[in-house]
Amino acid sequence: MLGVLGGGQLGRMWSHAAQALGFRTAVLDPDVHSPAGLVSHLHVCADYLDPGALAQMAAQCQAITTEFENVPAQALRQLGLSLPCAPSDQPVAVAQDRALEKAHFVQCGVPVAPHQVLNSAADLASVAPTLLPGILKTTRLGYDGKGQVRVATLADLPAAWAQLQSAGPTVCILEKRLPLQAECSVVLARGWDGQMVHLPLQVNLHRDGILAVTEVFEHALPAGLEQQALQAADDVARGLNYVGVLCVEFFLLQDGPERDHLGPLVVNEIAPRPHNSGHHSIDSCDVSQFDLQVRCMAGLPLVQPRLHSASVMLNLLGDLWWASGTAAAEPPWASVLALPGVHLHLYGKTQARPGRKMGHLTVTAATPEGARHVALQAASVLGIAAW
Ligand code: ADP
Ligand code: MG
Repeated sequence: MLGVLGGGQLGRMWSHAAQALGFRTAVLDPDVHSPAGLVSHLHVCADYLDPGALAQMAAQCQAITTEFENVPAQALRQLGLSLPCAPSDQPVAVAQDRALEKAHFVQCGVPVAPHQVLNSAADLASVAPTLLPGILKTTRLGYDGKGQVRVATLADLPAAWAQLQSAGPTVCILEKRLPLQAECSVVLARGWDGQMVHLPLQVNLHRDGILAVTEVFEHALPAGLEQQALQAADDVARGLNYVGVLCVEFFLLQDGPERDHLGPLVVNEIAPRPHNSGHHSIDSCDVSQFDLQVRCMAGLPLVQPRLHSASVMLNLLGDLWWASGTAAAEPPWASVLALPGVHLHLYGKTQARPGRKMGHLTVTAATPEGARHVALQAASVLGIAAW
């Protein structure tokens, strides 16, 4: 039996992959209706730091992973005392804190956005004007654009700071807002022996801070840039002595002074787990990011995934259920399933709320143009804006 901390959609897809290899799966998540709990052999329904629950996971599982950004690293530390955890608590603690994360990137020598950590209101006075316009982010617990405020000028900073302190005092980081040409990500897997493999480079479009579209095909970026991204991702993983699946997100900068100064690629952040931008791999690659996560945990061989189809992934947010007025209505799945190469994944969440990730669909095709053509048709059927 393999175990996961967190019972969201990532845990659900991981559970499917683990079960395909004959493993039983266990999920620790306090939500009775958690998507992964619903498809696993064992759902320990308790808080992540509940001592009894952690003891039960340790007793029943051969290895542990995590699927949710904000599962306390302490839970992994505890479990790591008695069984293999991929990833272990230390890299997770780094990924959970934007200040530690940025410091790690700097230490690895990979380019990052100019930034300053703000520990208290007193620090606002020392902010360099060159960081504006910027984005103020809480160092912890942010995801999908939550815990972030755009700040146009120095004069706007105190209000942004106050807004992020409203739920209690929190350390923030101010990042210079960079002119983005595109965003991309690399999902890699690193084994206990340091061997690394990776998914092909993913090109990502975000809307309102949430991933909307991922496109994956060969030579999406010039070879030099792709190589640079892979190298930076490798450096970041090796520097953390990482074991497991890791996603590294990048900004590709527009031409201009920032790009002249920083170079074309800037590391944005890491996720110590499979990533939304890697979901395409279930349908477009011969080994998926979830297969890799299972193989890492179980100490099974890692092989380099091969992209067998060009693909476009669309996130299906809860907004789609509310397209036609005030009552939630199921989107027209039959119409999208009638399109060639559509792979629909729904996560079994019963409540569709705006911005909530309810599912995704991946279109695979022989060519990038073919995949994009069908994905645009699917988007149009579902009421997702074209890109
Ligand atoms: P999250 O943890 O919510 O994914 P991110 O730091 O990745 O937080 O920010 C979400 C999105 O906001 C990014 O994917 C990007 O589109 C935009 N963004 C964040 N930081 C910057 C920045 N420094 N410059 C320009 N855009 C940014
Ligand atoms: Mg992000």
